[in-house]
Amino acid sequence: MTDFKLGIVRLGRVAGKTKYTLIDEQDIPLVESYSFEARMEVDADGNGAKIFAYAFDKNRGRGSGRLLHELLWERHRGGIAPGFQVVHLNSVTVDNRLDNLRLVPWGWKPKAEEVSSKQREQSLYWLAIQQLPTDPIEEQFPVLNVTRYYNANGDVVEEEENSCTYYECHYPPCTMIEKQLREFNICGRCQVARYCGSQCQQKDWPAHKKHCREKKRTFQQELGPER
Ligand SMILES: [Zn+2]
Ligand SMILES: [Zn+2]
Repeated sequence: MTDFKLGIVRLGRVAGKTKYTLIDEQDIPLVESYSFEARMEVDADGNGAKIFAYAFDKNRGRGSGRLLHELLWERHRGGIAPGFQVVHLNSVTVDNRLDNLRLVPWGWKPKAEEVSSKQREQSLYWLAIQQLPTDPIEEQFPVLNVTRYYNANGDVVEEEENSCTYYECHYPPCTMIEKQLREFNICGRCQVARYCGSQCQQKDWPAHKKHCREKKRTFQQELGPER
């Protein structure tokens, strides 16, 4: 692998796990003026859920939140004309390296060659995320989720907090998200961690077992209804 540097920024928790975004080295200074968070967007037309990185100006608060990939595009490449959108070529929606972003018309789909480079790019994301230590907070608290529902025009139809949510596979580098509620298998012991399949569950077990606690009836009450 060639010598390059990446920024890995913690986005916080969504979809049952701690999420991170990858950014280029040149964008790392953004963390001084922006806060980052992960938000899940659910396509109200049934095309599944996606997790995006949002950036908001520390001086202006959360209302100023913007999609990080759009912010980065404008910063380095210019504006986004109506009818166009910025997409993630490898389909990892938190991989915000400029090489992974492209401006395309609405409805654009990646070509076969771009999908094949997906594996390489995904493994870069995979490698980066795998190196991170497990976040201890990850396992101890129930999730506070904001789920946004979108229509085909990209307008927010509905926003819900702490609702039932689509989960992303709990194995940190895996970005598979449930297409239907409660699709993934749940860890039989803690009944918190969810996995897209037994492979991810097995790979995650050495890290997860340190936090996996058998579910007790008092679990929710001890923590209180809200955090
Ligand atoms: Zn998985
Ligand atoms: Zn467990």
